[in-house]
Amino acid sequence: MTAVKMDGKELAAKVREGVAREVAELGHVGLATVLVGDDEASHVYIAAKHKAATEAGIDARDVRLPADTSEGDVLALIDRLNNDSEVDGILVQLPLPSHMSETKVTYAVSPAKDVDGFHPLNAGNLYLGTPIHVPATPSGCMELLHAYGIDPSGKEAVVIGRSEIVGRPMAMLLMHANATVTVCHSRTADLAVHVRRADIVVAAVGRPGIVTADMIKPGAACLDVGLTRTEEGIRGDIDASVERVAGFLTPMPGGTGPMTIAMLLQSTLKAARYRRGLLAFPGS
Ligand code: NAP
Repeated sequence: MTAVKMDGKELAAKVREGVAREVAELGHVGLATVLVGDDEASHVYIAAKHKAATEAGIDARDVRLPADTSEGDVLALIDRLNNDSEVDGILVQLPLPSHMSETKVTYAVSPAKDVDGFHPLNAGNLYLGTPIHVPATPSGCMELLHAYGIDPSGKEAVVIGRSEIVGRPMAMLLMHANATVTVCHSRTADLAVHVRRADIVVAAVGRPGIVTADMIKPGAACLDVGLTRTEEGIRGDIDASVERVAGFLTPMPGGTGPMTIAMLLQSTLKAARYRRGLLAFPGS
């Protein structure tokens, strides 16, 4: 058996085309990204996000600040962006330099403009099953499942990793889609026991090849989020041998990564609708 490739690159291109059409209909849509410091990977991610946003017709503002910028200056910048009528969405690239509180900065972004879905109001609404802005990576995984006709309802899903940006929101989305969800993490006693039960596996750890073919139930859908740069190139959490057992598998690269960017653009579009009153912002 060879798994069907869940082609995130292809699906992302379709999502981006749809976003571009809707941006053209709406008129101006603005996204501001904030990058503080010199983290090499962050520079790569921000460049990719800007390219995609610009191609979709989004007015992307690239704010870069030196690593020694004070927390107060970053908070003042976010306050200005919150009140800027040209800006629909705000994204603060993580990680931030260690002298500032990521929590404080993340909480400062207006929930309606928080296209990453990191603000507690957005995280809380996802928990309640009334999502507003949802973190882009898990959102992209759900789109991939949908596009390949995989309905989580009634299925066993195992999410490996419990971070606030991937694992936790992923588990919530799968649970709201009526899967029976198990969340594994670094203290899970026997990862293989859980993964073997899964019809859907989402690996978001950052340990190359932690999920091996012997752990996979034949036919399972496997989504690889983990991304590690090694001397041999980019590697995912899911070992290549899984392809022989799984029913569906995202490639790495070309799977969940392109979908993350596409969903960020979709979230920016949603933020633009909230700001124009075309969508009612919950609680307002
Ligand atoms: P993170 O905050 O470091 O979380 C990693 C999670 O993995 C933690 O919950 C940790 O458990 C768990 N873990 C660590 N060792 C484990 C083990 N041996 N068995 C089971 N679980 C284990 O990372 P993240 O931000 O969620 O990102 C995860 C990976 O996805 C990274 O490689 C990142 O680069 C990648 N990523 C990719 C995309 C994409 O678009 N494809 C987007 C975002 C992130 P504890 O909670 O117990 O520490």
